[in-house]
Amino acid sequence: TPQAPLTAIPAAARSRWSELVRMIEQARDAYYNAVESQSPVSDAHYDRLYRELEELEAAHPALARQDSPTRSVGGRATTDFAPAPHHERMYSLQDVFSIEEVQDWATRMAVETGVPDDEAAMTAEVKIDGLAIALTYEHGALTRAATRGDGTTGEDVTGNVRTIASVPLILAGQDHPELLEVRGEVYFPTAAFHEFNEARRTENLARQAAGSPLLQVFANPRNAAAGSLRQKDPAITASRPLAMIAHGVGAIRPAPGWQPPALQHEWYELLEAWGLPVSPYNAVVRGSAQRQAYIARYAEHRHDLLHEIDGIVFKLDDRAAQRALGATSRVPRWAAAYKYPPEEVHTRLLDIDVQV
Ligand code: NAD
Repeated sequence: TPQAPLTAIPAAARSRWSELVRMIEQARDAYYNAVESQSPVSDAHYDRLYRELEELEAAHPALARQDSPTRSVGGRATTDFAPAPHHERMYSLQDVFSIEEVQDWATRMAVETGVPDDEAAMTAEVKIDGLAIALTYEHGALTRAATRGDGTTGEDVTGNVRTIASVPLILAGQDHPELLEVRGEVYFPTAAFHEFNEARRTENLARQAAGSPLLQVFANPRNAAAGSLRQKDPAITASRPLAMIAHGVGAIRPAPGWQPPALQHEWYELLEAWGLPVSPYNAVVRGSAQRQAYIARYAEHRHDLLHEIDGIVFKLDDRAAQRALGATSRVPRWAAAYKYPPEEVHTRLLDIDVQV
């Protein structure tokens, strides 16, 4: 369909678009690539800017250009690490912010697949607040680890990821594909994060007394995970208690005669059998009551988990249905990420803490 010329769009909408895009790009750079700094805006604020941009583009479709943040996966490759072209595209997730939007998505899935909502199996997973990672295993040996980057090309962080104890360098079990791309999240365990910051605060007292430069106290575990993984010196990464959880697969080149699992949850069982950590919180649910119960459960226990979470992810369990549905330029259609309402007060307290 021919696009309306940009000049037909009201000047106010055009300048707001530029403003939003610039703010979002700046926040993304700080969020994904920061080593010892943090994003200028909170996640909730970022989400509001992003929603506003989506609405602006819905009202003026010509603004939804190919280079818009609404069409792309955040995070640019920097020159600090070698580029790592992904074997298969890495996507983000479609965010939804209410139970109604989860239901709208599930109803759409039922229409698209022909399987009624209360019969369709979905995996229910916590959304780990860490850093996306793609691990390439060739004949069962880890050959590369890459960040998500723009989804097409990430950064080669193999040396750093090899220091993470929960990432197997060689898979357990047998029948490994010739090539397997495991997708997961690198995170900083919450308890270790608090200990780490506490130790830094103590160290800073001594430094202050001696007049030497102070160490960065991290704003949150995600920020600490990103900063620790993107070190130029793997020895520093090794000194941080990072961990990894696998939550998907990308490219697969199977050994001859081998059949991959037909269901998402069976993949998790297989990855676990191969020695890869999968989430202890994963479940299979059917229908809206079970989805809501899962959301409510982790809303209540959100701060009792091994790591921080910022929401819940639902995925169609049927891999054939996933393939049939495919993806947009940014997100798979067969998954949705419900975001918990922001905990503003908590974040602000932390921000003050950092500045003291
Ligand atoms: P996202 O973080 O909302 O979701 C996509 C990612 O979730 C995937 O790449 C995957 O790595 C991860 N994930 C965690 N658990 C998962 C699971 N169980 N299954 C599948 N994937 C799982 O998307 P995004 O595009 O990386 O970032 C957007 C979000 O990041 C925003 O909504 C905002 O909250 C935050 N953000 C904040 C700033 C800021 O400046 N504060 C900037 C950019 C992004």
